[in-house]
Amino acid sequence: MTQRIWNFSAGPGVLPLSVLEEAQRDLLCLPGVGASVLEISHRSKHFDAIIQEAEANLRRLLNIPEHYHVLFLQGGASLQFAMVPMNLLGDGSADYIITGSWGQKAYKEAQLVGKARAVWNGKEENFVRTPRPDEYAIDPNARYVHFTSNETIQGVVFPAEPRVGEVPLVCDMSSNFLSCPIDVSKYALIYAGAQKNAGPAGVTIVIIRDDLVQRAPENLPAMLNYRVQAENKSLYNTPPVFAIYIVMLVTRWLLNTIGGLERMEQINRQKAQMLYEVIDQSGGFYRGHAHPEHRSIMNVTWRLPTEELEKQFLQEAQAQGLHELKGHRSVGGCRASIYNAMPIEGVQALCAFMREFMRRNG
Ligand SMILES: *Cc1c(COP(=O)(O)O)cnc(C)c1O
Repeated sequence: MTQRIWNFSAGPGVLPLSVLEEAQRDLLCLPGVGASVLEISHRSKHFDAIIQEAEANLRRLLNIPEHYHVLFLQGGASLQFAMVPMNLLGDGSADYIITGSWGQKAYKEAQLVGKARAVWNGKEENFVRTPRPDEYAIDPNARYVHFTSNETIQGVVFPAEPRVGEVPLVCDMSSNFLSCPIDVSKYALIYAGAQKNAGPAGVTIVIIRDDLVQRAPENLPAMLNYRVQAENKSLYNTPPVFAIYIVMLVTRWLLNTIGGLERMEQINRQKAQMLYEVIDQSGGFYRGHAHPEHRSIMNVTWRLPTEELEKQFLQEAQAQGLHELKGHRSVGGCRASIYNAMPIEGVQALCAFMREFMRRNG
């Protein structure tokens, strides 16, 4: 197959075509280097330029203050579920706000490491929303509060950061990282597996305030220790060089082609609104999963009247080049992941198909 599909995969997700083309063009020979990025030392000046640009681009895009470190780690967001409590918990306790499957997993992992408390859990309501501030009480002595800004599986997003007072705020931002501007200074630690919106699988970006880096206990293995990783500028061992290179290209694309995160957010909102309009105007034929104020602009989730129709919908969509629309097995139904790199034309094609499918089957 040489024709690219409309790829609504939840992760690894679609990447900007121009980034893939550039990586392909330069794969055998990075300009000025004479070798592939896959073949050069991670301690060479050539790779140094790549990792430094990746970090500089992230700092510019997100306005990351000086006293935060930007780390490029391995093990996915799932390893951060463990690293966060291993580094920050000590003999204290942490509070978890659970709004979907990933938050639930993060909480379970923290419980293996030490004391963690679920201060709000949306499971009983089938994870359709995030809590109001008056629905949870943060322990002022908690070592940190953890939340998942965008629950990828349920398509539920926090409209604003939870209110946690002075307690350090830790966020799994994997599936909406770089989708809109954020105020980094509200957070103590942000982590994101790159393969949703920032690059390929294999690298996890961690943005951590300096005072938290200092909290890592002495007896932690080096690879799991934020202080060691920060002191070595993510080069304690061989980092995922190719993944970091692609993150550099994606962030360059966000800066130079898109024009920054305000613009990216506008485009993302426009794409999401197109889909939610089809859902809202379908007279109940398409039923959105998340409550309207908590709907994700990255992962749009909905059901059809019957599982039969859902199956038919997915089959016919695929035949029209609209792929990876099946919802996660734990939620069912359909999900369209419309990350930064999904062009508006892809969403238009999906909306047209949804309207037409409803006309024939509604
Ligand atoms: C995909 C995802 C994860 C898991 O990421 P891995 O890199 O596969 O470990 C965790 N949290 C969220 C919100 C995700 O979307």
